[in-house]
Amino acid sequence: MTRGIKPIIIMTLILWSFWPTLAHAERLKVVTSFTILADMATQVAGDAAEVVSITKPGAEIHSYQPTPGDLRRAMGADLILWNGLHLEIWFEQFLNHLGDVASVRLTDGIAPIPIKEGKAEGQFNPHAWMGRGTAMVYIDNIEKALRQHDPENAALYAANAAAYKDKINAVMVPLVDQLAALPDDQRWLVTCEGAFSYLARDLGLKELYLWPMNADQIGTPQQVRNVIDGVNAHHIPVVFCESTVNQAPAKQVARETGASYGGVLYVDSLSKADGPVPHYLDLLQVTTATIVKGLTQKDGAQ
Ligand SMILES: [Zn+2]
Repeated sequence: MTRGIKPIIIMTLILWSFWPTLAHAERLKVVTSFTILADMATQVAGDAAEVVSITKPGAEIHSYQPTPGDLRRAMGADLILWNGLHLEIWFEQFLNHLGDVASVRLTDGIAPIPIKEGKAEGQFNPHAWMGRGTAMVYIDNIEKALRQHDPENAALYAANAAAYKDKINAVMVPLVDQLAALPDDQRWLVTCEGAFSYLARDLGLKELYLWPMNADQIGTPQQVRNVIDGVNAHHIPVVFCESTVNQAPAKQVARETGASYGGVLYVDSLSKADGPVPHYLDLLQVTTATIVKGLTQKDGAQ
């Protein structure tokens, strides 16, 4: 018997030394179209899956041009997660290049908000991750997709998803409450892209924006003129712009109306790890807090 034990111990030690490699090779590979979805998926997956974003931090995601390197990084994916609702106009073609791989649109099941003007009029606003209720649908869709493709880790995914939803609520609820006392006529959110319909609905704000979608022609003199007129007509105290586009037109609106420039909002992309919004929860916190600060400070000064 003792002669049989030694080879078993040796085999066990060999297998043990290879275990990290074996375990890694078995992990689910999940590819997402942009950084925010990658972070959401990472929070739900924990260490059980490898998550890759095609677009990098800070990228303009609507009209992105994928590279051959992007395609190589996506090869071998078990599961593709994307937004849909015409957000990533490049992604369906990209998916076709990947062949037969499972893909899930994370906006499936939300009640989308229609776009009211511009070339995308009649389509739905795709920025649904910015709404608290709609973000929960993204998390549910991610959890369900991971569970279906990796049932062994179903309990982990369910627990992570529940904890993550609690964190989203913990970030958003106090910020929404801070705006409760703001008078109706000061409830305006002025931005570059019309990317905030879902967040504006949560915060009880009316929207005014320079252009409906980043894919459209942006920052034209007419668009700037329209927003200047709107800011003047409604005596709006503050304007904002997003991190992934040129902020000059919004600053021009501020200059010509006397409104203050409230700063940068993050909506379409996370920052790098050492930037201000490396995670989706940071993006929600920083963007919403910037809006609340801009609106309430001016209110306090009046
Ligand atoms: Zn956008």
